[in-house]
Order: sequence, then structure tokens, then C-alpha cells
Amino acid sequence: MKTSIHLAASLILAALLYPLFSWKALLVLTGGVLIDVDHYLWYIYKYRKFNLLDSYKFYFKNMETNNFTNVMGILLVFHTIEFLLLMAFLSFYYESVLAFTIGLLSHYFLDVIFLYSVPKRIITNHSIISWIVKNRIKH
Ligand SMILES: [Zn+2]
Repeated sequence: MKTSIHLAASLILAALLYPLFSWKALLVLTGGVLIDVDHYLWYIYKYRKFNLLDSYKFYFKNMETNNFTNVMGILLVFHTIEFLLLMAFLSFYYESVLAFTIGLLSHYFLDVIFLYSVPKRIITNHSIISWIVKNRIKH
């Protein structure tokens, strides 16, 4: 999903939650937008390059022309069930993490809409454990 759509949805959600969380509602933006930094982290891990513009091109320009084959099975650490479970657990103890997790869920929701409508299949690996197991078998 495009960053601008994540940002717009997160801004609306943060505004709606402001009466409940006050300034902590800004953390909805962190969970709703900034978690996509894991795309860049994967790019650095995979290609050992730090060029942000090249990373952007890799994901948003080449992806659709390659029918997403260049990103099949990659691990986006903030888009995993383990990360969600950790954030859900911490949400019971910290209000700020709860605000972050609400943003995170809205991000996942929009990503699911994207996956359903554009590639029409699951692309990345959504479990750290599954990714480790699969990659151990390959090597
Ligand atoms: Zn995402």
C-alpha cells in the first residue's frame, strides 16, 4: 500500500483517538506509517546497499513489472505475527504501545486490501519463525 494512503488513514485515526490518548495519539502514525521502514531494512540486508532512492525504486517501480517475484518470501520484520503478538502483549501494560498497535492494525488492514486487490496473493513471509525454518532448509 502506498505511504500516502497509510499516512492519510493514520492521520484520521490519530485525530479520532486524540480525545482518548491525547499526545500519545501521534504514536498511531508510528504504527500506521513508519513500520514500513522494514522494507528498507530488508533491502539493506539483502543487497548491502544503503541508497534509499534505489530501495524505493526496487519496491515501487520494479515490483509490479516483475509481478512481485523479486520480493516473494522476503521477511518484513514489522509485518510479522511475532511482532504483532509482542505489541499486543505490551499494549496491556503501556497506553503508548496500545496507540502504536492500533496504528499497526490499521496498517495491516490497508496492506491486506492491497494484497487482495493488486498481487492477489500473499507475497512476503509473515512469520519470523517460518522464515528462519524455510531458509535453513534451503541452505
Ligand atoms: Zn506495510
